[in-house]
Amino acid sequence: MRIVMLGAPGSGKGTQAQRLQKDFGFPQVSTGDLLRRAVADQTPLGLQAKAVMDAGNLVSDDIVLGMIEERIAQPDAARGFILDGYPRNSKQAQDLEAALRRRGWKIDAAVLMDVPFDILMKRLTGRRTCSRTGQVLNIYFSPPAELEACKRAGGELLQRADDNETTIGNRLHVYEGQTAPLITHYRELGLLETVGATGEVEDVYGRLKAALGLQKGKKPAPTPQNKNVGTRKKKAKKKTARPARSNAPRAVKKKAKRSTPKKAHKKTKRAAKKKGRARANKR
Ligand code: AMP
Repeated sequence: MRIVMLGAPGSGKGTQAQRLQKDFGFPQVSTGDLLRRAVADQTPLGLQAKAVMDAGNLVSDDIVLGMIEERIAQPDAARGFILDGYPRNSKQAQDLEAALRRRGWKIDAAVLMDVPFDILMKRLTGRRTCSRTGQVLNIYFSPPAELEACKRAGGELLQRADDNETTIGNRLHVYEGQTAPLITHYRELGLLETVGATGEVEDVYGRLKAALGLQKGKKPAPTPQNKNVGTRKKKAKKKTARPARSNAPRAVKKKAKRSTPKKAHKKTKRAAKKKGRARANKR
């Protein structure tokens, strides 16, 4: 399956994408993670992106498209993937559709992780990563025992550079202005699934799997799209085996059929016979 995760920063896209990756094997492709790695590695791209990310703005469409193309070309993405944080504006949505089309692929579903604004703020301002274990925690929502465990293990609770209040405000503003319109885009394509993303992670995950028609331990059912990919050859063969069709356009043929329905035809036949008999009696 090829899934697009939509939702504001802090809506839990990454957490849920990681669960799907673990249970179903579709790799999570997060442009945020790829960019953060580039920043940490101080690559030329990372150095270019850092200031933009720290301000909570969007990195250039061409840079992220290049990263996405490179990532989905990897063998582990051949069966499908979960896009987390991409696309983030309508140009990126077009770029993505074109990149997939070139490979004969399509998006199977776009999931909107729906979270009220006040909860988003707490999730973002309270988010911390344990420097020791890498576990993502929250000072407002995580059980105190888990927060303590990080410290006891000798870890520090680190805040992401772009999780400060000013940057968070801008990231949410950018989301409203540029990313939220994609909800309408995917709804119009008939691909949108909305998942209530507040509450326990496990409950949200249950709703997400239900929305995607996924069950752990079961292979995802082929969607109409990937079904077509698998049967395209067979269908083509069938077509050539059929007797040649008339060149008349289908609609015209249907109309002609409808104008002389069987019943009406029988009725007129019966009426003609009756008339004939009546005439014969008269004669
Ligand atoms: P995220 O971890 O998805 O919240 O992304 C963190 C930051 O990385 C964003 O605030 C942007 O600066 C940048 N970023 C991530 N994904 C994209 C994208 N698709 N287009 C542009 N910038 C992005």
